[in-house]
Amino acid sequence: VRDLSNDTRLLAVNSATVKAWSLEQLVDGCQRAGIPAIAPWRDIVQAVGVDKAGRLIRAAGLEVSCLCRGGMFPAVDEAGRRAALEDNRRAVDEAAGIGAKCLVLIAGGLPKGSKDLAGAHEQVRDGIAALLPYARDAGMPLAIEPLHPMTAADRACVNTMGHANDLCDELGEGLGIALDVYHVWWDPELPRQIERAGKRIVTYHVCDWLVPTRDLVFDRGMPGDGVIDLKGIRAMVEATGYNGHIDVEIFSTLDWWKREPDEVLRICKDRHRTVV
Ligand code: ZN
Repeated sequence: VRDLSNDTRLLAVNSATVKAWSLEQLVDGCQRAGIPAIAPWRDIVQAVGVDKAGRLIRAAGLEVSCLCRGGMFPAVDEAGRRAALEDNRRAVDEAAGIGAKCLVLIAGGLPKGSKDLAGAHEQVRDGIAALLPYARDAGMPLAIEPLHPMTAADRACVNTMGHANDLCDELGEGLGIALDVYHVWWDPELPRQIERAGKRIVTYHVCDWLVPTRDLVFDRGMPGDGVIDLKGIRAMVEATGYNGHIDVEIFSTLDWWKREPDEVLRICKDRHRTVV
């Protein structure tokens, strides 16, 4: 595992971690903190417009580890699936416009009123397959992010690295994997599936699993405050050849979103050097 104790070149801060900030504030804050990369969500990019967002980021000399996120493919009807595809094409354009290294996709859950999980899985596969030619033309890698199974109904029915690897096997060139430790740390298959993924891992997200977890979405921990073996997982990921950014992504209404964002960045940087 690489020694990061004196090395923050690969640190990226996800905009979800400093939720109160606009894109301008995130760019300025990372410059002040000496953080070299960001991983914005689409909302703050759209708020300033993609052209201006790209200019701001390039002028600051920041890299963009990924754009969060597209996906959400399953829908109750054909019109819904078409709308999802259109939105995902816009997400590809936004990712290209800000120079993101990939576009993160989450699968989407069961369509409203449905109990057909297998059907939702098929819709996800078909949705990514429909998006891929557009992404390939744009030179924008897609990264399917498996989410913890507690999200299968409402946010993402791709929940394991194994399922993500199966999709990559089936859909081929242009589709990779976003590995977020929060979602996959519990999986006994994780070591085998990381090895199987190899070069498919195109972006890597860290935070921590708190015990107890008080909210299923908004109580993620700062790296080092929970039970995830961060260095152990990073060692496995780096063994695949991954040498990209390490993106700190923390949803936390209960703690980190209440703090001063500059302080949050300072702690992210410190934890990157010590426990990530
Ligand atoms: Zn993530």
